[in-house]
Amino acid sequence: MKIKSIIKQGCNILHILNSTNPWAGPLKIQWAVTYNCNSRCRFCECWKRYKDKFDDELTTEDGIKLIDQLIDLDTISISFTGGEPLLREDIFKLITYASERGILHTTISTNGLLLDKYSDKLINSGLTAIYVSMDSADAETYRDIRGVDAFDKVISSVKKILNERNNKRKPKVLFNITMNNYNIDQIPRIIELGREIGLDGITLQPVHDSPRDHLTIHEESIRIPKENILKVEQVIKNCSKEIGSFLKHPEGYYNKFPIFFAKPEALKKIRCFAGLVIAHIDAYGNVYPCEEKFAKFGNIREKSLREIWFSDNADSIRNRIKKGDHPICWYNCYGPINIELSNFKKRPIKTIRYAFDRLGIL
Ligand code: SF4
Ligand code: SF4
Repeated sequence: MKIKSIIKQGCNILHILNSTNPWAGPLKIQWAVTYNCNSRCRFCECWKRYKDKFDDELTTEDGIKLIDQLIDLDTISISFTGGEPLLREDIFKLITYASERGILHTTISTNGLLLDKYSDKLINSGLTAIYVSMDSADAETYRDIRGVDAFDKVISSVKKILNERNNKRKPKVLFNITMNNYNIDQIPRIIELGREIGLDGITLQPVHDSPRDHLTIHEESIRIPKENILKVEQVIKNCSKEIGSFLKHPEGYYNKFPIFFAKPEALKKIRCFAGLVIAHIDAYGNVYPCEEKFAKFGNIREKSLREIWFSDNADSIRNRIKKGDHPICWYNCYGPINIELSNFKKRPIKTIRYAFDRLGIL
């Protein structure tokens, strides 16, 4: 099953380099399983925006049905996101089901507040990677950014998981840093901290202001002002030795952070493959090309994912994206893939190596 799906996805990628009509389902699904969250981040409204709608979120049964449909569509990677996915009571049922049904790569993005409580389950669920949000190198900055006092707790929980997984090397444990105005100067120290505690790597992305999504700035102090863009450039240069190794994702992604902050429209020169390689599913079953939610493919409570994915509506949205008619983001789930696929014809081996590394095959 996995081999057939990998081959199909590989052929599909070659095909979509010149097309907007996919042969296969999404290679990767980013699924926001709940919008409930126990953090209070300054760059996210999740915890207040959806508080009256938790009862409408997809049920366990909906989730199992969705995973079955993803298997049928040859999807090989599911990223369980939120909100805080560990607040969903059935989260391990969903992860284990996906893994046992043959999804090659299952990851979770968590704020880390419940890592300690669920360490055993996280290690044994079949997950391939755990991404822990960590934006600071000290407790004070952590509290300033995330609105909760939990730096020490998260670090000790991460250490516990690294220790308890013993020599299994699975699941991989990584930090995910959101670069913002509070932590620009701390990025090298967070990387050092990650090395010290034995993490498998770190991903880094810029803070976003995306009003259609919950990842939106609601406290201006977190935004990187224009006068700090040179600092961003310097930090990326200072981290250059780590890029592509401990700091996951290609250099071409990171060195465009200053452009994203200064002149985001310029990034439209790079074709975006959202809605072709990746899709985003929200907690209510709405399917979007990406988490910016500027156009909707459909809802899995109304139609099958196959019908939605291969519909005329989806094709016309993909055409729109190919023409550059879409908002701009520089999230690390889309930007690096766009960079790699745009360069595929020039250096295919590098792109294939990157894909295998991200899927945990290497
Ligand atoms: S960024 Fe993540 S951890 Fe922070 S409030 Fe939003 S969903 Fe919660
Ligand atoms: S660049 Fe545009 S289409 Fe692509 S993922 Fe970002 S918002 Fe979505």
